[in-house]
Amino acid sequence: MAETESRPTNFIRQIIDKDLASGLHNAIKTRFPPEPNGFLHIGHAKSICLNFGIAQDYTGTCNLRFDDTNPAKEDITFVNSIKEDVQWLGFTWDGEARYSSNYFDQLHAYAVELIEKGLAYVDFSAQEVMREMRGTLKEPGQNSPYRDTDVETNLSEFAKMTAGEYKEGECSLRAKIDMASPFMCMRDPVIYRVKHAHHHQTGDKWCVYPMYDFTHCISDAIEGITHSLCTLEFQDNRRLYDWVIENISIDCTPRQYEFSRLNLEYTVLSKRRLIQLVEENHVNGWDDPRMPTIAGLRRRGYTPGSIVEFCKRIGVTKMDNMVEMSMLEACIRDDLNTNAPRAMAVLDPIKLVIENYEEGKTETLVAPNHPNDESMGTRNIGFSREVYIEAEDFRESANKKFKRLVLDKEVRLRNAYVVKANRVEKDEAGNVTTVYCTFDSETLGKDPTDGRKVKGVIHWVDAATAQAAEFRLYDRLFNVPNPAAEENFTDAINPESLEIKQGWVEAGLANNVPEVSAWQFERMGYFCVDNDSTDHKPVFNRTVGLRDTWAKIGE
Ligand code: ATP
Ligand code: MG
Repeated sequence: MAETESRPTNFIRQIIDKDLASGLHNAIKTRFPPEPNGFLHIGHAKSICLNFGIAQDYTGTCNLRFDDTNPAKEDITFVNSIKEDVQWLGFTWDGEARYSSNYFDQLHAYAVELIEKGLAYVDFSAQEVMREMRGTLKEPGQNSPYRDTDVETNLSEFAKMTAGEYKEGECSLRAKIDMASPFMCMRDPVIYRVKHAHHHQTGDKWCVYPMYDFTHCISDAIEGITHSLCTLEFQDNRRLYDWVIENISIDCTPRQYEFSRLNLEYTVLSKRRLIQLVEENHVNGWDDPRMPTIAGLRRRGYTPGSIVEFCKRIGVTKMDNMVEMSMLEACIRDDLNTNAPRAMAVLDPIKLVIENYEEGKTETLVAPNHPNDESMGTRNIGFSREVYIEAEDFRESANKKFKRLVLDKEVRLRNAYVVKANRVEKDEAGNVTTVYCTFDSETLGKDPTDGRKVKGVIHWVDAATAQAAEFRLYDRLFNVPNPAAEENFTDAINPESLEIKQGWVEAGLANNVPEVSAWQFERMGYFCVDNDSTDHKPVFNRTVGLRDTWAKIGE
């Protein structure tokens, strides 16, 4: 069946196939575990498509779990935006959204269990001292003087920590593993720390919070996750993940598998950097159409289908690489080429006055909405003595390669007549503002009868009925392929990433929203309506140009 054929395959799905075949599992459970400290980006979409995609294809379930162990940096706005983005991508999590903080009581009890087993201790060493004693990749660490504190004392100190008797940084609870381990994360990692902070879910109940590595594996086990999928930087942490699960009394043994992160050229995919772009006003918020966030891509005009398709095309491996922006753009272009109706808009207008066209007369012409899809129907467009054309579509003189309007030459107005340019009017700076021309009334929908060849076709908008509109054209946000490698990535911001144009669109377009909210403006690219639009002036974002312009970059 087509459906199974289009299923992606990757090393994780092969592991799942094996686990199902061997009977290790008979139902698959995955989770998507964002930290609510920023908006989701296209890298998260890769993880979402992987986790929810597996649940869909194996008739399993996928949980949405907020990894909320760091209350100081988290916020309910981020929780809400994450839910919205996952749903917009077309995925449904199992039951209610979950929170690691739902398990704080259990996590605390497991910490006590480790203390009771002599596998955790409260350390009062200063943070710098602890850091120094951890050693390096070449040298083993040293045991803390608190490492051999007896169980009773550790229990009472942890109780005091929990009761708020210690200040932040004064002490922490550490797992007692191996200070000589080749894996740094196994050198007695901190599993609980004091933090006097209000939490968006648990309020002021806690002043100790569990660390990510301790929380994540236990949350997975509590939820019965079978395959815990994360990115490669957690590879070493898998030892700690397994150690915690082995040493507490819990029935479930989830397994962690790592895949490579998505890196995309000419942008950054790290929340820390995205937060900086927003906070320092390099962009206009998280949903700025230049941002690689899901919210930014949505506002830019990307469809959920195009993002899911992108994730399918890039695949899932263990190899680190940099994906070209043109891969992402190809996905939305393919989608809109099929699904977006055509229309005409002039972004940088000059006037064309058709001197032999009767003054005051208006005509209604018919234009197809899609050149290859008759089912999309036709629309009526106005035509009269004055129309707008694109300034770059006219030249006073040009060689034969220029297939647009030239003085004393002819061109076809798309869906309308052939016109010939006769003279121009210029402003004080010498820019052409108006082109005076004549039209051939016999050329509506047919070639000139006397065999004249007219090769060029340009787009236009009827001046009498046109609607004024703003167009926002976007370019890459950074000037270098890998801004994260720069000393200061904000120095690499492209100062010309946004260009605003005031022009004209066919009448009636913006009235169709939301039924149609994306068009191909002929010859200018794919556009969508921005929510900055007002009743008297629509604002259009260019989602993507008609052709791949990225290939040229760097030449
Ligand atoms: P960032 O570095 O952007 O803050 P993160 O990993 O800290 O990312 P989380 O909210 O913890 O962000 O991520 C939730 C899930 O999304 C994790 O499983 C993480 O591995 C995955 N993820 C994050 N960034 C990417 C990426 N670029 N490619 C693939 N998966 C990603
Ligand atoms: Mg994280």
